[in-house]
Amino acid sequence: MGQIVESAHAKINLALDVGPVRPDGYHGIHTVMQSLELRDIVVLEERPAGISLDCMPGDPLRQGARCSLEFDRDPLPPSNARNLAWRAAELLREAAGIRRGVHITIRKAIPLAAGLAGGSADAAAVLRGLNRLWNLGMSREELALVGVKVGADVPFCLLEGTAEATGIGEKLKPVPSPPAWTVLLLKLPVSVSTAACYKAYDELQNPPRVDAGRMLEALASQDLTEVAKCLGNSLEAVTLKQVPELILWREAMEEAGCLGVLMSGSGPTLFGLVRNEEHGHDVFERLVNTVKQERQGLLPNLYLTRFLSSKGNDEFEGGAWHA
Ligand code: ATP
Repeated sequence: MGQIVESAHAKINLALDVGPVRPDGYHGIHTVMQSLELRDIVVLEERPAGISLDCMPGDPLRQGARCSLEFDRDPLPPSNARNLAWRAAELLREAAGIRRGVHITIRKAIPLAAGLAGGSADAAAVLRGLNRLWNLGMSREELALVGVKVGADVPFCLLEGTAEATGIGEKLKPVPSPPAWTVLLLKLPVSVSTAACYKAYDELQNPPRVDAGRMLEALASQDLTEVAKCLGNSLEAVTLKQVPELILWREAMEEAGCLGVLMSGSGPTLFGLVRNEEHGHDVFERLVNTVKQERQGLLPNLYLTRFLSSKGNDEFEGGAWHA
């Protein structure tokens, strides 16, 4: 029986502009997405029939984090047909018109419901992996057509790297990735409903807009300081209002030395750009001290990771990983 190991990388939105709601009920967006080294591991094992799935806690330090501090591990996602990875396998079987089976094992390291597209990344990893395991010979575009039925972020997660996205996030234009810049993630143990976030955004008198084009220019010049200046997210103010603790942690990240801080997607994860890895460790330690002094209220999980700037950096590829 064959086995395939895939990496499912987290993403952040370096810029996210949300437009008015469209007649189909979705919002048009203009965003710049960036994959991170932090990843889930998805193992696919061939079965004669049926889909089954196990989720287990992963190890962030073996899965793309340079260092991490976790007060609370997130609950695991469902191990049934509601898991986006399962749904992706089901839809691919339908699209390819085949009956072969698979057992999926997911080692979660990406925080859940965090604005980091963990579920979409797992779904994309399943599509990529099953395409190989079942020898389907489908192109990335064909896989993306299946993936978008699972979620708007799945096509980007199939592509990985850096891309400009429009439509509902599914229309992608890859752009050259910047160097493997170090980034700090701060995730409070709160969940934010994406639907509620967009609803609150629609109710704003003057919804904030973001110039994602400026971010693309900054990325093209590979100027980290300029990229930090161009960070922007239309949804940030809404989520910060819903979770005021985020405002304090955002300030703490700036005080600790981040060059720029932004919420990813609809949150609640905040990410901070730092000068280099050494500076990242320094900022990480400062924030650990702040967390230790705080001791009460909502305490965040912290991860230091990097932009995914090239493929093939995965020590789990090539069968080295055994679930
Ligand atoms: P996005 O950035 O695309 O909005 P997110 O990071 O906010 O995504 P996810 O971690 O993808 O959120 O999870 C969203 C919801 O999907 C959770 O409520 C979770 O229970 C469910 N879910 C289903 N399958 C998965 C999976 N494989 N990994 C994570 N969450 C999953």
